[in-house]
Amino acid sequence: MQKKILIIATHNKHKLVEIRKILKGAGISVKPLSDLPPMPEVVENHRTLEANAAKKALAVAKTHNLPALADDSGLFVPALEYRPGVKSARYAGPGCNYADNNVKLLNKMRNLKGKERKAYFAASIALALPGKPAIIRTAKVWGYIGLELRGGMGFGYDPLFRPIGYQQTFAEMSPRDKNRLSHRGRALKKMAPVIKRVLQV
Ligand code: IMP
Repeated sequence: MQKKILIIATHNKHKLVEIRKILKGAGISVKPLSDLPPMPEVVENHRTLEANAAKKALAVAKTHNLPALADDSGLFVPALEYRPGVKSARYAGPGCNYADNNVKLLNKMRNLKGKERKAYFAASIALALPGKPAIIRTAKVWGYIGLELRGGMGFGYDPLFRPIGYQQTFAEMSPRDKNRLSHRGRALKKMAPVIKRVLQV
């Protein structure tokens, strides 16, 4: 029997690799957006991860007439009024990269100590089928923001984020260990039975 197709509605290669690894063995054919004809970019202009994830999944499912899964995620630092938050990708301004964002975060936190350096990653995963409302699952992982960058794996703020109970940053962990603990791994774990039910796999 042909495997059911699920589009991963992201242009972020790192997210795609993580989502693929986490969904491996679920009996579905995971398709990146890059395998499909181009479509207009979905503007992430909502104030919550849930709303942005739903917007992306719904737009992609409608355009390609196939089930789509989207992730919207970010890093939230309570001592910085929950910034970078939903704007984590663009924290250091238009055209910024991961290194710029990490420099800005370290700079903003230079006078913060101990519990003030607590932060969490959150991910909202939305599943949309053409013509149906999106189904959303969200998860968090708490940790501390380090004083310097450590590790070469992962992406984004990973070299600064040490999950509670661990000495290593996400960027020092194997992908398997990161995925087991991460916001994205946890949200996808919640979503896995929903994907199976909805796609009937
Ligand atoms: P989005 O594409 O709007 O969801 O942007 C998510 C942004 O949050 C990324 O560009 C990263 O800066 C940050 N982020 C989300 N998940 C992770 C992660 O697992 N590790 C490190 N940074 C992350």
